[in-house]
Amino acid sequence: MEHSQVLSALGFSTSELTGGTLAVRSPIDGAQIAQVHETPLGDMEKIITRSQAAFASWRALPAPRRGELVRLLGEELRDAKEALGALVTLEAGKITSEGLGEVQEMIDICDFAVGQSRQLYGLTIASERPGHKMSETWHPMGPCGVITAFNFPVAVWSWNTALALICGNPIIWKPSEKTPLTALACQKIFQKALTRFGKDAPKHLLQVVIGGADIGDALVTSRGVPILSATGSTRMGSVVGPKVAARFGRSILELGGNNAMIVAPSADLEMAVRAIVFSAVGTAGQRCTSLRRLIVHSTIKDALVGKLRNAYDSLKIGDPRQEGTLIGPLVDEGALDAMQLALENARSEGARVHGGSKVNEGVPAGCYAAPALVEMPEQSETVKTETFAPILYVMSYETLEEAIALQNDVPQGLSSCIFTLNMREAETFLSALGSDCGIANVNIGPSGAEIGGAFGGEKETGGGRESGSDAWKGYMRRQTSTVNYSAELPLAQGVEFDI
Ligand code: NAD
Repeated sequence: MEHSQVLSALGFSTSELTGGTLAVRSPIDGAQIAQVHETPLGDMEKIITRSQAAFASWRALPAPRRGELVRLLGEELRDAKEALGALVTLEAGKITSEGLGEVQEMIDICDFAVGQSRQLYGLTIASERPGHKMSETWHPMGPCGVITAFNFPVAVWSWNTALALICGNPIIWKPSEKTPLTALACQKIFQKALTRFGKDAPKHLLQVVIGGADIGDALVTSRGVPILSATGSTRMGSVVGPKVAARFGRSILELGGNNAMIVAPSADLEMAVRAIVFSAVGTAGQRCTSLRRLIVHSTIKDALVGKLRNAYDSLKIGDPRQEGTLIGPLVDEGALDAMQLALENARSEGARVHGGSKVNEGVPAGCYAAPALVEMPEQSETVKTETFAPILYVMSYETLEEAIALQNDVPQGLSSCIFTLNMREAETFLSALGSDCGIANVNIGPSGAEIGGAFGGEKETGGGRESGSDAWKGYMRRQTSTVNYSAELPLAQGVEFDI
């Protein structure tokens, strides 16, 4: 679809796309597709106040009823899947099936959250005092600020929004300044669900604010925003995290990764090659869970590198809308420069680099690069740094202990995996002595998580968890209550205090 068709299918008006101060360019060919209006910084206080007003009534609605709005959102997303997926491709440069896959992930989290809306379970706890009942209940918290990165321009919003809504919280969303159109499209889709839901929903349940770090900062520093979920670079998190902590807010941080795969001698190499290629070059290496480090047993390293070089040679790079393309563009010139710089640094550290050059696949203003395979003599500082591009560093190991130590010896802790057919190795990798990451897989790559599990990572990845399992607890406050239904007033721990 042409970009004008995509935008009109999603209901954009000309005035929304023109006359603003923020230029939106497609990474596919560098063409400007819109000039959107930014939110004035001076409006942020009003926006936060409106969100608090929405909270006052939204929290009073029973959670399963709140779930009904999320169910409707899931329906609207199903209807809009093709157009929204195409806009993700246009604005973030993902290949068509990944653009559609991102919208599918939104639908999946809506389904998950609808079920969860009937399962915001608390506990009953045995009290040590006779005639007493102790329990734990979960309550809504208030406005949830959501700051998102360019590379998952819509899915990350939906992970946060579907759960925050069923938990009783309104949302203020600041998308990446590189991908505002997909956010505005989501707002329109959400509005359709809201209209169908009816008058129970307060105004301003979802507000989208457009702009850069200063607009994000207004959410980060406001005491009116008790939950701040921020997805992006570790650099961003290192600014945002302490600011939220300083006002005793709750942050959910989803930051950079530096994900590794250990390939053991017993690995099914054909399967490993497929997993490596998808996770290292998919989304042009621009996933937080992209495979960046390959730790291969020395006895199979040359064979594996040979197979990977052959596979890399066959990958079609170019316009992500074209059938057969597997590697689309990097998001912008800055990303391409960062990739080239990392490769230069690796060379100076003794690397042997295969691929990695800029390519021009008939789309002159797009930023395309051949994926790079980089054989490293050791895990240098360059390897320990996340470069958001399709660079795969390859290192070798002799013992599993050494491989796990290498895997863990980076500042980030998002995703990890091992390819092995040896049960002892697999279980050791998943044990307390194994991977230190939030995600640890066996015989599948590090990227492409499912909605049902909690998603997030340790160390510089920020510690946040989103999406499945009990991630919903991040959007609620816990209350412990003791009820005395006896006629006595015993104190805990046997303390006596007679008056
Ligand atoms: P980025 O850090 O440049 O920007 C992310 C968002 O933070 C943007 O909306 C930006 O405007 C905002 N921001 C930046 N500085 C801010 C500040 N001081 N105060 C408030 N807001 C601020 O990241 P990016 O280039 O858009 O995305 C790529 C990065 O995101 C990679 O490091 C990737 O690993 C990470 N990422 C992590 C996850 C995860 O779940 N762990 C998911 C996607 C992306």
